[in-house]
Amino acid sequence: MALNADVARGRGKVWLRRCASGLAALALSTAIPVSAGETSDEAVLWPTRLRADMARVAQVEWRLRDAASGLCPGVAADIGVVFDDRRAYRKADWPVLASTLGLADRPVVAALVPGGPAERAGLVVGDEIEAVGGFSVDAIAERRKAGPLVAEALLEEIATTSPERLIEITVRRQGTNLAVTILPKRHCAARLVLEVDRSIDAHSDARNVSISAGLVTLAQNDDELAMVAGHELAHIIHRDRRGGGISKRRRMEDAADSLGIGLIHCAGYNAAAGSVLLDRLRKRDWLGFLRAPTHRSFSKRVERLQAEIPGLTCPATPKPVVENQKGSPSAQSD
Ligand SMILES: [Zn+2]
Repeated sequence: MALNADVARGRGKVWLRRCASGLAALALSTAIPVSAGETSDEAVLWPTRLRADMARVAQVEWRLRDAASGLCPGVAADIGVVFDDRRAYRKADWPVLASTLGLADRPVVAALVPGGPAERAGLVVGDEIEAVGGFSVDAIAERRKAGPLVAEALLEEIATTSPERLIEITVRRQGTNLAVTILPKRHCAARLVLEVDRSIDAHSDARNVSISAGLVTLAQNDDELAMVAGHELAHIIHRDRRGGGISKRRRMEDAADSLGIGLIHCAGYNAAAGSVLLDRLRKRDWLGFLRAPTHRSFSKRVERLQAEIPGLTCPATPKPVVENQKGSPSAQSD
């Protein structure tokens, strides 16, 4: 799980799609405060809420990356941890981050995947990170030209180590330095990026899935959150790219729905419960604002998914849309 807060936005990620699992961006009525300029109660609450979202997304990410191992374009070492660092936020927000989360000048362990390698090895939420793999935080940030994205750089440092080879993380806990040795797991390299954003939005580029905090709030359970993330992860696995006509795009979206629901099933989520999100969106979507033109209606998508659920098997099977010899798109049959 990675965080894309306000400062991080400046990095200029170019997302290839804004299919948003069929959603156009729409402001939520339940606003998510993201700046110190909000009212005092909200200003105190938003860091806590953000941390809860980060932990939630991290768990979904772990399970989906596990289910997608062997399907994704790349692999990465994963230890099931989320780091947070105040440099990813505006300086104006630093005081409230310190008072609500105790986030000071060092990156910290913000969340751990329950039962994941980092938790089993003894890392604890709140641990301050001193070094990863024998390199200090500052050395890693400089080598990776991290700028404000120090937490990201630490995750990348772990991701690019050899999976199934021990990695040592030095943390500071209650004034004492501890070395924790962790055995990573080999996972799909694609990550979920939590966008600090009030809109209802999900999209993906060739490498990562982006989910807005607004969408995390809208998802009533992790089955629904996994449904959205699984669809986007399927686009990455299929190596879908922008372009082509509506017909081809719709085939891509159908294929992403099919693989996505297979991934969430294999990740241990309830596929039927996940598809309820689409049904709830259908009920909200009385003017069609939420639906991208490349996607079928929500009711049609739910109907297709419900029909596929009884036949789901693991591992999930990719079915990318390819051009046939006549230039019209067709789904791969094998
Ligand atoms: Zn899509």
